[in-house]
Amino acid sequence: MKKQFAVALSALCLLLGNEASSQAKPAATPAPADTTKKAPPKPSINDKVKSSKKHAGLFTVYQDTATGSVQMFIRKDQLEKEFIYQSFSLSGPTSLFLNQSMHRSTLLFKIRKSFDKLEFSLVNTNFYYDPNNAVSKSANVDVAESVFFADKVSFEDSTGYLITADALFVSEKLDPVKPLPNPTVPSFMFFNLGGYNPTKSKVSGLRSYPNNTDVIVDLAYDNPAPFNQGGKDITDARYIRIKLQHSFIEVPKNDYKPRKDDPRIGYFSQEVDDLTANTYTPYKDVINRWHLKKKDPSAAVSEPVEPITYWVENTTPVEYRQTIVEAGLKWNEAFEKAGYKNAVQMKIMPDDATWDPADIRYNVIRWVSSMYPSYGAIGPSFVNPKTGQILGADITIEWKPAALFPGDAVYTDRTALSITPAEDATAAFEKMLPANLHNHWKNCNIGKYVMQQYAAGFAMAQLAGATSEEEKEFHKQFLYYLVMHEMGHTLGLNHNMKASSILSPSEVHNKAITSKVGLMGSVMDYPSVNVALDKTKQGDYYTTKVGPYDVWAIEYGYSEFAANEEDAKLSAIASRSNEPYLTFGNDADDMRSPGNGIDPRVMVNDMSSDMVAYAEDRFKFVNATMPKLLSKFGKTGESYAGIRGRYNLLNFERRSMAQAVANYIGGVYVDRSFIGQNGDSKPYTVVPAAYQKKAMDLLVKYVFAPNAFDADAQLFRYLQLQRRGYNFFGATEDPKLQNNLFSNQVVALQTMLNPVTLSRISNSSLYGNTYSVADVMTDLANGIFKADIAGAVNLYRQNLQTEFVKGAIGIIESKTGYDNAARSAAYNTLRKIKTMLGTAVSPNEQTKAHRSMLVFLIDKALAVK
Ligand SMILES: [Zn+2]
Repeated sequence: MKKQFAVALSALCLLLGNEASSQAKPAATPAPADTTKKAPPKPSINDKVKSSKKHAGLFTVYQDTATGSVQMFIRKDQLEKEFIYQSFSLSGPTSLFLNQSMHRSTLLFKIRKSFDKLEFSLVNTNFYYDPNNAVSKSANVDVAESVFFADKVSFEDSTGYLITADALFVSEKLDPVKPLPNPTVPSFMFFNLGGYNPTKSKVSGLRSYPNNTDVIVDLAYDNPAPFNQGGKDITDARYIRIKLQHSFIEVPKNDYKPRKDDPRIGYFSQEVDDLTANTYTPYKDVINRWHLKKKDPSAAVSEPVEPITYWVENTTPVEYRQTIVEAGLKWNEAFEKAGYKNAVQMKIMPDDATWDPADIRYNVIRWVSSMYPSYGAIGPSFVNPKTGQILGADITIEWKPAALFPGDAVYTDRTALSITPAEDATAAFEKMLPANLHNHWKNCNIGKYVMQQYAAGFAMAQLAGATSEEEKEFHKQFLYYLVMHEMGHTLGLNHNMKASSILSPSEVHNKAITSKVGLMGSVMDYPSVNVALDKTKQGDYYTTKVGPYDVWAIEYGYSEFAANEEDAKLSAIASRSNEPYLTFGNDADDMRSPGNGIDPRVMVNDMSSDMVAYAEDRFKFVNATMPKLLSKFGKTGESYAGIRGRYNLLNFERRSMAQAVANYIGGVYVDRSFIGQNGDSKPYTVVPAAYQKKAMDLLVKYVFAPNAFDADAQLFRYLQLQRRGYNFFGATEDPKLQNNLFSNQVVALQTMLNPVTLSRISNSSLYGNTYSVADVMTDLANGIFKADIAGAVNLYRQNLQTEFVKGAIGIIESKTGYDNAARSAAYNTLRKIKTMLGTAVSPNEQTKAHRSMLVFLIDKALAVK
């Protein structure tokens, strides 16, 4: 009788514990009496989990209330099925990208039974094989299996298996948090975590729902003698604990249809190689997008069955909430073109909401304030890697953009501002990063440009005389743009760094045009802030509506088509790509790192279809307002820190312009139209030589000329940092002016003299370029030497001339990188400079010394005895 009761109880527990299982035997059947042998009582799951708290859901998990140990129940029908894993950082060092709810890794995995164990292995989604092709029988032969966890089944019943999951969750098996050692970088360069300490690590939270199970873990690391103490967000570098969320998600069961990618439109995508296709483009790439479906498929415009809903988190400053809601709803304009009404919905999270924003079922827009923000705003999403379906997204915005740019970080005592070999500081930093942090860095770093433009633009608007109403408008427009931009990412769009080039310099301030079209073709650009020196001519500072490109891209990505029409309709949409307002180029093409892109219109911090004209306006703006900085912003009773910060920002504006304009020299315009789409379009058209020369002239006048920085002269003695406590930020406090000013010149020279640029100038001479490397070098030599050849050379011209000569010598002496045309042009330039120096008149000792050094360097390089 006792035994019968035990069996009945265990069956009952099974029923309760694992939802109704069709395989569970009815409890009423009595066990056959056996008088000969005493079989041990059948163990029940209840015995295994009796001291645990149960969280039933996609995977039912049990946490022992005494030890914290976690067991996971895997149903038999879950074996061999695919699941999505997504990790989120909840808190940890900013420098390791572990702060505040960052989406981290997305994986697709399967669970398999092997003997007495369960094995968790990754699914490789890189390949496609046409099932009608016999080759598909050998599919995935060369794909190595990747088992990331295996453990013994501790209990089995008719419905599934129980395993102890501590080693899976409280470990780095799923998401390797600790940066991998980078053999090329000394370990003190970066803050790193010490050894993993399992004793201090634990599962600190569990949530389970029918479609997802979230496991929140605290991972502890000990480093008894850390080289690098981290920053202020590191309480003690010897003991770090980070918080991570593992989310296990059911692959959605729906009729979602992946949409193919097109090179003319910029969606994030999942790359798939078609190994059974025999073409030059064996790509089956699919874009990332939400699963939108019309409620009424027959209607031209219908509400979606399930809208894309964003919650403005209750961390958002109250005064911004309404603006954010309005900005988000602007995307509905794009979705209407794709056939949806109210596709995007914006809600405000109540202050007393009981749900957790980390719950993946809620897409939130949150506000944070970090000590070392590595971004201004970020809009990551996570997707099903097999289909590209976006399953969730969050947007995080940093609270204090101005604090990102206290002003001096880029102008410390740098002794090596050499122009060749040119390497962008960002690229150099990226190279030093441990391999497993690259993706995080790429995702997070870029928003800085936007914030820098914001801080500089706000100062400029004030200098142009903005009223407090106009200042409010400035901020509102910025928020509009920022929120639309980040939401664009969460809808699947990547950047369009070419979009700020659609309007002419006069059109960008014409509200009649910008209110209709937008200031840019797309909100997905990083534009130069649009401020006019003459306030009466001021148009929009930022774009306040989704642009024509955005509408078009959403139409491509989200319109519903009958299956038999889809290819033709998508091709018809994509073939509009050559319309001027739909122009597109993303980060992979942009020219912010010398030698990266080729089309100068694909650039950050630029604006308008005529950058030479736009930049000239900006140089004039900076030169006109620089002398007013002190009277405008100097406040009785305050230090000069704000003056110095704004000075650096305005100078940075010059730098941005110098780089954007320098890109036109040797630039090649790119057209991604397909054959026959656009009459006589050609993929490559060189920037006309006359325009390249115009760019050169502008640089000579506003960046290289002896009087280029005259406007700053009266400020120099006021550029004082505010001392803090005992420390002075690791350097002497006097302003490092020559480096500061020279950095404007360096960026232009690095861009033009990059080996990739010079080689392109030569290559493009074969298809239309008439401005040769020798012409460019000659114009540079004239621009850098002629104006003061008959007199004294000022300090920043001395630096410019010396580094240009060193750069030309570097080109001749470089073993790799520079082609023959560049070397001969550099050689010839040095000879010309020497001739010019022979005619020079040096009225003071420093100028004499400078020129004699130049002659020495040239003679040595040319081996003149
Ligand atoms: Zn972005």
